[in-house]
Formats: sequence, structure tokens, C-alpha cells
Amino acid sequence: MTPLFIIMLGAPGAGKGTQARLLSETLGLPQISSGDIFRENLKNQTPLGLLAKTYMDSGALVPDDVTINMVMDRLSRPDCANGAILDGFPRTLAQADALDKALATVGAQVSKVPLLEVSDEAVINRLAGRRVCRNCQAMYQLEFNPPQVAGKCDKCGGELYRRADDESDTVRNRLFVYYKQTAPLVGYYFAHGVLLSLNGARAIEAVQADLLAALKAA
Ligand code: ADP
Ligand code: AMP
Repeated sequence: MTPLFIIMLGAPGAGKGTQARLLSETLGLPQISSGDIFRENLKNQTPLGLLAKTYMDSGALVPDDVTINMVMDRLSRPDCANGAILDGFPRTLAQADALDKALATVGAQVSKVPLLEVSDEAVINRLAGRRVCRNCQAMYQLEFNPPQVAGKCDKCGGELYRRADDESDTVRNRLFVYYKQTAPLVGYYFAHGVLLSLNGARAIEAVQADLLAALKAA
């Protein structure tokens, strides 16, 4: 079986994590979120986590060498033998190039790159109300996808918190960084014939249905 490596692309708040988690359950492939790995390291106060924090706090990207090593290490684990759903990586052309080279060494390649297209206004609005479970990282949105009990995760009962980098000034900087450093990946993957552009501004279930249909048709 050819391994399936899917990269979720889009601005911060476009719904990459939400869709990656659903897709991971449907396809039985691990979801790999570079942001989650950095946050887990920060929670455990590892040197990697403390280093990443100095960049994450302002919405800047963690340097490529650190990020690439961390994700390649994760991808080399046995649970990725059949592929993975990547969310938040790659975020620069250097990261995309490193990923292509690493996959080529094991005879694999990036399979498809769904791009979730959502307006800047909508992502700013979504991130203002994003809440994350401290325990299982499930994602909520106070207006569009609220938890059944305020402040508690529906899935595991964990405490919901607001990410420090979802404050409005940091969100604006993250959007700026996205356009400057990550948006060139749209052209990169289009040129490789693997880009799938999707309207990410619809309800979560509608986007998931479009995503599954697009992957099937591709
Ligand atoms: P990303 O991983 O791209 O930063 P998330 O998946 O964390 O984005 O989604 C950002 C916020 O928007 C979360 O609070 C999530 O619950 C919410 N969200 C995700 N998809 C949608 C959608 N289609 N419509 C409305 N809100 C959404
Ligand atoms: P995310 O959870 O994807 O929104 O990422 C949160 C933050 O982690 C980003 O603003 C960056 O500071 C850092 N980060 C996550 N993924 C990457 C990456 N691929 N390259 C560089 N920095 C990253």
C-alpha cells in the first residue's frame, strides 16, 4: 500500500486542526501537529518547549532547523509507516523541501494538500473564540462549535483554555507571518499537482464532507 501523506494548509484559524483530527479518525492515520508538539514540550518545560515559547509568544515561526528535526523525528516512528495527516507543518519552503527529501528516502511523497480558504475577518473572529482542551487538545469555538458544558471538554471532561497566542495583536502578527512565509507553499504544491482548494468558510461538517469527496476524486 502506498503511504498517504496529507498536509493541511491554510491561515491560522482556517480549521486545519479541526479537519485533521476528523480525517485522522476516518482514515486511521496519525495526526501530526507541530504546534501541539511544541505546546506539549512547553507544558513539560523541555529545552525545546522553552525555546519554542520565545517565538510562539509573538506569533513568529520557530526556526526551520529546530522544527524540521522535531517533525522528522516524529515521522520516523512506526505509526507513520502508512502515512500521516500533517497540520501546521510545513510552514516555509525550506520545511516543504526538507519534507519532500525525507519522504523520498523512504520511497514516499506528499499525496495531497487540502487548502482551507477562509477570509481574514472570519479567522480573526474564530480565533477570538477558540478554546482548547488542556487534556486531549480537542478544539471548540464559543460561537460555532461550543462545548455542552461551559469550560469543559465534551470528550474527556478536561479543562478548556484560551491559547495565549490567540490574543488579537498576536493573531494579526500570525496572519502577517502566514502571508509572508507560508502562503508561497500554495504555489509550491500547485506546481507539484497536489493542491486541493476548498471553501473552508462553511460549517465544520460541510467542510469535512467536501474534503473527503475531494480526496476520493483526486
Ligand atoms: P487551525 O488549526 O487552522 O489554526 P482550528 O482547527 O484550531 O484552526 O480552528 C480554529 C477555530 O475555529 C477553532 O476554535 C475551531 O473550533 C473553529 N472552527 C474550525 N472549523 C470551523 C468552521 N468550519 N466553522 C466555524 N468554526 C470553525
Ligand atoms: P499552531 O498550533 O499551528 O497555530 O502553531 C502555533 C505556533 O507554533 C506558531 O505560531 C509557531 O510559533 C509555532 N509553529 C508551529 N508549527 C510550526 C512550523 N511548522 N514552523 C515554525 N513554527 C511553527
